[in-house]
Amino acid sequence: GTKRFITNADKAHVFTVMARTGDEPGGRGVSAFLVPRDLPGITIGEPEKKMGQKGARVADVVFDDTPVPAALRLGAEGQGFKIAMQVLDRGRLHIAAVCVGVAERLIADCVAYASTRMQFGKPIAEHQLIQAMLADSKTEALAARALVMETAARKDALDERAACGPGRPPLGDNVVLESAAAKYYASEMVGRVADRAVQIFGGAGYIADYGIERLYRDVRLFRIYEGTSQIQQLIIARETLKRGG
Ligand SMILES: Cc1cc2nc3c(=O)[nH]c(=O)nc-3n(C[C@H](O)[C@H](O)[C@H](O)COP(=O)(O)OP(=O)(O)OC[C@H]3O[C@@H](n4cnc5c(N)ncnc54)[C@H](O)[C@@H]3O)c2cc1C
Repeated sequence: GTKRFITNADKAHVFTVMARTGDEPGGRGVSAFLVPRDLPGITIGEPEKKMGQKGARVADVVFDDTPVPAALRLGAEGQGFKIAMQVLDRGRLHIAAVCVGVAERLIADCVAYASTRMQFGKPIAEHQLIQAMLADSKTEALAARALVMETAARKDALDERAACGPGRPPLGDNVVLESAAAKYYASEMVGRVADRAVQIFGGAGYIADYGIERLYRDVRLFRIYEGTSQIQQLIIARETLKRGG
């Protein structure tokens, strides 16, 4: 089969592949494998033309009757979905942290531009409607940062505890909900911050030379990969219902 849209597929020497190895329904029939790029039957598609994030290429990985020995399995048979979920917690937190970083950069650029761009006899930063946009962006970026930091600290503590010994953590003692919430909120937040940045820059926000236009395109992807916003909403709702609040 084909896995579409793999970042850096053209550079990778090894792929982490989740494949169905059993008839059990849902995630239980899935195992994880480390698959070297040079196994027979693996080809990489042409890089796609993308809206943004052009520093990284994305391409299909095609598997055509590729034999994968059991020795390349990660963990036990049927554990693939569980492994993927653990990786996703960290991946979502990572994307959320990147969103916070880009938002902070955008806000700094907005402050610098608004402090020097003069309209109606004063820097636009002194116009209250510009200040309102700055205030909204700053508030949302701070909220996202707090959510990311708190969830990351909790994940560190859980990982440390897991490294100390076996024992299943009690229900709710994980960061599945919080990681999804951080990714959902931070990726939507940076979209709004980028949109306001274009507005604060005015015409310059739409022109490539000023850099805001690129970030506006780049951040759009954060709401799509590592699970779309809708998938995060489903996870957040499912976990909230499971936890009873
Ligand atoms: C540039 C780029 C890089 C990528 N890099 C990687 C990578 O390195 N590795 C990797 O594995 N993947 C990668 N992806 C894939 C990416 O994770 C998926 O594109 C993304 O998860 C969405 O899946 P999809 O494209 O199949 O959209 P679909 O699943 O078809 O979704 C289409 C729409 O339907 C909505 N939807 C889907 N299911 C539901 C539902 N149950 N309820 C409500 N709404 C729903 C979605 O939210 C979305 O709005 C990349 C994608 C891009 C564009």
